[in-house]
Amino acid sequence: MIYFQSLTQQDLASLLRPLSRVQSKARISTEELEHKLTRQARYRAKQIFHWVYQRFQTDWDQMTDLSQDLRAWLKAHIQIFRLNSLQSHQALDGTHKFLWSLEDSKTIESVIIPAALREKNAQESSKAFSEEGAFFSGRVVSETMDSDHWSRLTACISSQVGCAMACKFCLTGVQGLDRHLAIHEIVTQVYELRRVAPITNIVFMGMGEPLHNFENVVKACQILLDQDGLAFSKRKVTVSTSGLVPAIEELGRRIDVSLAISLNATTDEQRSRIMPVNRRWNIEELLRACRNYPLGSHRRITFEYVLLKGMNDSLEDAERLVHLVRGIPSKINLIPFNEHSGSDFRRPQDSVIRSFQRYLLDHHLTATVRISRGRDILAACGQLRSILGTARGSERHQEWGQGLTRQ
Ligand code: SF4
Repeated sequence: MIYFQSLTQQDLASLLRPLSRVQSKARISTEELEHKLTRQARYRAKQIFHWVYQRFQTDWDQMTDLSQDLRAWLKAHIQIFRLNSLQSHQALDGTHKFLWSLEDSKTIESVIIPAALREKNAQESSKAFSEEGAFFSGRVVSETMDSDHWSRLTACISSQVGCAMACKFCLTGVQGLDRHLAIHEIVTQVYELRRVAPITNIVFMGMGEPLHNFENVVKACQILLDQDGLAFSKRKVTVSTSGLVPAIEELGRRIDVSLAISLNATTDEQRSRIMPVNRRWNIEELLRACRNYPLGSHRRITFEYVLLKGMNDSLEDAERLVHLVRGIPSKINLIPFNEHSGSDFRRPQDSVIRSFQRYLLDHHLTATVRISRGRDILAACGQLRSILGTARGSERHQEWGQGLTRQ
């Protein structure tokens, strides 16, 4: 059985091609026959993409504009995959977190992160810095997920079960890598979230290093971008990486999506301490790959910067950051560390966060501060899974906080 969500529209058309029939009384050439059969298969594939991804129909028998023979074939050969929701929690700020169980009983997380209209406005005011502390406002409490309430609904999805990159501030990193996600497991996270909310953006910032699962992520992106399917725009799909430099270069050659870099430090010494990947590809190599990344017009690379108290939050860091990203069309997303019981790292004080942001703004960078979302539902990457004890190594997480020494 093939999973529907692992197929591009072109893959599906190729599977349907042998089933195509042309009725013609007139004699037609072999090329013309071939052309008609291919066109028919493509048309059927498009119809099926509409049924599944735009009308959310999961029963082949209900796809009434397909022939009975085709429906019977689909039933026998292709399965529309569904994820089994183990838990779902909605926080007071609207963040909605899902814990899914896979067929082999492994678990992964996805999160819907809303940006409220008021929050967007608040961030814009913080950009201009006209209002003291504006970026801490803007939280809106809502039980609903309809687009009238939110300017943006971002699906944060996972690409692996666990992660091999071992970033020190990340709970998923502590859990280690279990396995890569298959294409259908990646696409179906978005498919399931779209069933409950009008998702506008996708970020690969859940569990896992997406570029470590390169081929599956690229193909999943192709499916997500299909305008007859879930129809996301390339600007609204962002792959976030900890810095696998050769894969960044390959990504730019293979598919047109937005890029985010989890930077988090301004010196190699500092970055290697919190992100082991930096020992393989240092900041200079990483930024060179960013400079060469093919960006369309008006597009920018996002640099994610987790602010860790006493580690990377000084004004000297801000100064080095300005220097590092100079010449790269970019925006800086400052993320005050989301404290959790398994970590010794701490969130900087609000005044420190504000000074850091102000320095970047004063030096003509776009710098936003991500409001910490969903604290009441453990929205930081890997937290829900770990607390529920479904993660490999979740038992290690209990000891980890004591073992970690911050230098
Ligand atoms: S921050 Fe991302 S890349 Fe680093 S360990 Fe966590 S999930 Fe992996």
